[in-house]
Amino acid sequence: IELLVGLATCGIAAGGMEVYKALEKEIAEQSLSNVHLVKVGCIGSCYCEPTVQVNIPGQPPVYYGYVDPDLALRIVREHLQEGTPLESNIIPMTFSRTDPLGAKRRQLRIALRNCGIIDPEKIEEYIAFDGYEALSKVLMDYTPLEVIAILKESGLRGRGGGGFPTGLKWQATAQAEGPEKYMICNADEGDPGAYMDRSLLEGDPHSVLEGLIIGGYATGATHGIIYIRAEYPLAIERLTTAIDQARSWGILGQHIFGSSFDFDIEIRLGAGAFVCGEETALIHSVEGKRGEPTKKPPYPSEEGYLKKPTTVNNVETLANVPEIILKGAPWFSRIGVGQSKGTKVFALVGKVRHVGLVEVPMGTTLREIIYDIGGGIPDGKAFKAVQTGGPSGGVLSVDHLDTPIDYESLRSLGTMMGSGGMIVMDEDNCMVDIAKFYLQFTMEESCGKCTPCRIGTKRLFEMLDSITKGKGSSHTLDQLQLLGQNIKNSALCGLGQSAPNPVLSTMRYFEEEYRIHVEDKK
Ligand code: SF4
Repeated sequence: IELLVGLATCGIAAGGMEVYKALEKEIAEQSLSNVHLVKVGCIGSCYCEPTVQVNIPGQPPVYYGYVDPDLALRIVREHLQEGTPLESNIIPMTFSRTDPLGAKRRQLRIALRNCGIIDPEKIEEYIAFDGYEALSKVLMDYTPLEVIAILKESGLRGRGGGGFPTGLKWQATAQAEGPEKYMICNADEGDPGAYMDRSLLEGDPHSVLEGLIIGGYATGATHGIIYIRAEYPLAIERLTTAIDQARSWGILGQHIFGSSFDFDIEIRLGAGAFVCGEETALIHSVEGKRGEPTKKPPYPSEEGYLKKPTTVNNVETLANVPEIILKGAPWFSRIGVGQSKGTKVFALVGKVRHVGLVEVPMGTTLREIIYDIGGGIPDGKAFKAVQTGGPSGGVLSVDHLDTPIDYESLRSLGTMMGSGGMIVMDEDNCMVDIAKFYLQFTMEESCGKCTPCRIGTKRLFEMLDSITKGKGSSHTLDQLQLLGQNIKNSALCGLGQSAPNPVLSTMRYFEEEYRIHVEDKK
């Protein structure tokens, strides 16, 4: 019998450790030697933490939410010992070990496949779930060029926001001249409301390490760096443990699995600057310099970290790689729509019942995510808008609920996939306030290197501020549009180029709200 307790940051913050200790004490007092208590990462249902999953051989798993120490004792006594599950706290399973597609057949977990299922601090558990088998296969059966060909055929694109084909990125570094190359994992997640990377690293760090090592083999890199924000202490702790374990198992270091391939990984802490999502800024920060972007070309694949060829991949991108190697490029490319293959992880937050992490095939609609998985809007309120792509993205209205989520569809509507933040708003939210909130964020995160972003976002913010204070006019709205477009066209990096998106998209889909503000002066 297994009892899995969700102990990612969300579970711990909600009291998961107290639940774990209560279970541990009760199991010891009752000498239940057949009950195995396991610390796992987040299973995705953050709304009902702390969570406990009960696995009894021969029975379907039972998943409890809102567990406190008293309920934990009852789970042991009534469910395990008397065979009576506590119906009031049972949460519908969205997936299980044997049925990766959810009960509603909406979620498909590739990147999050082990999160909430294995103990992230035990390499043995990762290995028991086919961990490091893809790495072994790559080293035994494939040349680096063949690995790149598999990635290209799979259609995997960067999950950090840009959506650049991963195989092409690897190919560029592989073809670059130079004996020393680097692989960098960007774990400096910075969007407000987004925590996909943190959760993945807390729940299954080895999957990211495995993707990074495979990337090193394919591109010819021997050094891996994980750049992670210092505000993620638990993810850093679990990553450090995972790296130490991988070293002691001969998975990192020299002659990995007896091959001629050497690769090692180190962790570098970032101070949490949003601009470091831009890869040239990130590389500068890793080098110990100010995190400022530089013009491309040269691209990092030619001149990156320490001016050596470097690949920068996002956490979720790398977590997909081992599954693609094991199951094949055709399997992966059959999932999704158009040029958007595979799945995407979203942090579903805001005015939605089931706040949490979801992973769905590309092409799933916003309605399916918000209503079928997210449970809809709480307190009987009406859905108003959803922000995708974080501060660089934009808002979509009720007219877009049936939009399939893929890179191209979102872009055509003036927003973007981004790294996976998805913030739902209801009828009480003022869209001008929302635009102002995001713009304030990007304005404060601007590195200040170029004028359109440094000065432009400030002026844009001032205009929005005057509108919300009843001091705007229809002329202010025209100026907002004009300045927003100018910043988009002239800023140096993605941060500035996308900073006006929340303003422009709210003006496009909620123009009436802006008009009310300037006409009624409220
Ligand atoms: Fe810095 Fe903004 Fe210019 Fe990017 S656009 S380089 S963040 S000032």
